[in-house]
Amino acid sequence: MVNKKIVIIGGGPTGLGAAYRLHELGYDNWILYEKSDDVGGHSTSHLDPQGFVWDEGGHVIFSHYPYFDKLIDDMLGKEVHERIRESWVYLNDVCVPYPFQNNLRYLPKALQVSCLMGAAKAAASRNSDATNFRDWTLNTFGEGIAETFMFPYNSKVWTTPLERMSKGWIAERVSVVDFKRLLENVLYEKDDVAWGPNNKFRFPLHGGTGEIYRRMARKFPDKVRTGKQLAEIDTAQRKISFTDGTGDSYDTLISTAPIDLVAGMLKPANAKLKESATLLEHNDLLVLGIGLKKKIDTGKCWVYFADPEMPCYRATFFSHYSPNNVPKGDTEQYSSLMCEMSVPLGQKVDIERTYEQMLAGLIRSKILEESDRARIISRYHRLVRYSYPIPTIDRDRALAILQPALMEQGIYSRGRFGAWRYEIGNMDHSVMMGVEAADHIVKGQKELVFHSS
Ligand SMILES: Cc1cc2nc3c(=O)[nH]c(=O)nc-3n(C[C@H](O)[C@H](O)[C@H](O)COP(=O)(O)OP(=O)(O)OC[C@H]3O[C@@H](n4cnc5c(N)ncnc54)[C@H](O)[C@@H]3O)c2cc1C
Repeated sequence: MVNKKIVIIGGGPTGLGAAYRLHELGYDNWILYEKSDDVGGHSTSHLDPQGFVWDEGGHVIFSHYPYFDKLIDDMLGKEVHERIRESWVYLNDVCVPYPFQNNLRYLPKALQVSCLMGAAKAAASRNSDATNFRDWTLNTFGEGIAETFMFPYNSKVWTTPLERMSKGWIAERVSVVDFKRLLENVLYEKDDVAWGPNNKFRFPLHGGTGEIYRRMARKFPDKVRTGKQLAEIDTAQRKISFTDGTGDSYDTLISTAPIDLVAGMLKPANAKLKESATLLEHNDLLVLGIGLKKKIDTGKCWVYFADPEMPCYRATFFSHYSPNNVPKGDTEQYSSLMCEMSVPLGQKVDIERTYEQMLAGLIRSKILEESDRARIISRYHRLVRYSYPIPTIDRDRALAILQPALMEQGIYSRGRFGAWRYEIGNMDHSVMMGVEAADHIVKGQKELVFHSS
C-alpha cells in the first residue's frame, strides 16, 4: 500500500465516498476540506425555523451499485422509507402519468392524435442521424410529443437551446418506447408507469437526504474540516491555499469542486485549461418550499410542469417522503411541497414574484386550493449555485483537455461537477466515483464509473 498524502476537496457524496473508502481500507494519511459549514453538498438538507426539512431539490435514493446500497443500509438501518414512484406530468389542464410518452391516452383526443401521428411518422422514417438532443427528440418521438411535452419541459430544465445539447447522456434519463407500445397503451387503455431506475426509491426517515452524509462524516470527525474554501493549487509545489489564508500540501488531490473553477485556481496559470473550461455550461437552481398547516393525503411523489407560465419544472410532495419533513412529524396537521426552477447563469430572480407565479401554477393545476394561501406557515427559498452540468455538444472536447492535464498534476477531478458528466451525476454515481478514486490511488484498481461511456 502507498502512503501518499491524499487531500479531498468537498464534503458532498463524492468527497465523503472517497473518505469513507479510505477509512474502510484503514488508510490514514488523508484529510477532507469543505467550504461550507455542513457536509452533503447538493445532497444536504436544511431545517427551517418553522420546523420543515428541505432538500436542495427533490432527492430520492436509488442505485446501480451494491456498494452504495450497502452503504445506505449501514448508514440508515431501519430508519428509511421505501416509496413506489408515482409521478405525473401536468399540461393543458390534465395530469398524465410519467413517462408522458407512454401514457398518451390521458391527453385530450386532438392531442392524442397529433402525438400518435408524429410518433408513427418518426417510426416509419427510422432516421437515426441526429447529432443533437433536439433532433434526436424529433426523430425518436415525432413532432407531436416533442412540441407538446419534450421541448417545453426540457427547455425549462436545461435553460439551453436543445440543439446545443448532445444526445450521449440520454440512455437512462428518457424513456424510449416503440410505436406499437404507444399505440397499444392508448387503444387498450393501459397505464405504463414503471419505466426507469427510480421507479422504487428510498428516503431517510429523519433529517432529509442530508442525514446520510452527516452520518458518514461522523465516522471520521477529526478528518473533516469545514469552513475551508480552496482558492489556489500550486501544482509545482503540490500545495493548496484556502480563502482564509491557510494552506496544506498534498501528494494526490481528489477535487469535487466544479472543474471549471479548479481550472482557474492553478498556479502557474494555464491559459489553455482556462479557455477549455469556458466551454462547460451549467445552470443554477431555485428551490421554493411551501410549508402548510393542512393535511395533504396523496400517493403522488412529484409532478412535472411543461407549462411555460409555471416557473418551476417540478413540484415534489415532500411530506409524503417522510413525516419528519414537517414539524413534529405530524402529517395529520402539516404538509410540504417543494418546487424546483432552473435559473440560467447570471439571470436575476425576483423571488417574491416567482413564488406568487409558482402558487398560481399550483392552484391552476389543482395541487393547491386558493384558500390554501392562508394555510402557508413557511415560505422557504434557497438559490443553489451549480445545479445541472449541461451536456452540451462542446462538453466532451473540453473535458478531453481538462481531465488528462489535471491527472498529470495528481488531481482527480470527480463527482457531479468535478467530472461534469450529467449521465453519472446522481448520488450513487458520485459516491462510487469517490470510492473508486480511493481504490485507484491506494490499490491501483480501475475506476469504472468515471471511465464508463
Ligand atoms: C435538483 C437536483 C436534484 C437531484 N436529485 C437527485 C436524486 O433524486 N437522486 C440522486 O441520486 N441524485 C440527485 N441529484 C444529484 C446529487 O445532488 C449529486 O449527485 C451529488 O450531490 C453530487 O455529489 P458531489 O460530491 O459530486 O458534488 P456536490 O454535492 O456538489 O458536493 C461538492 C462539495 O464540494 C464543496 N466545494 C465546492 N467548491 C469547494 C472549494 N473551492 N473548497 C472546498 N469545498 C468546495 C461544496 O460545498 C460541496 O459540499 C440531484 C441534484 C440536483 C441539483
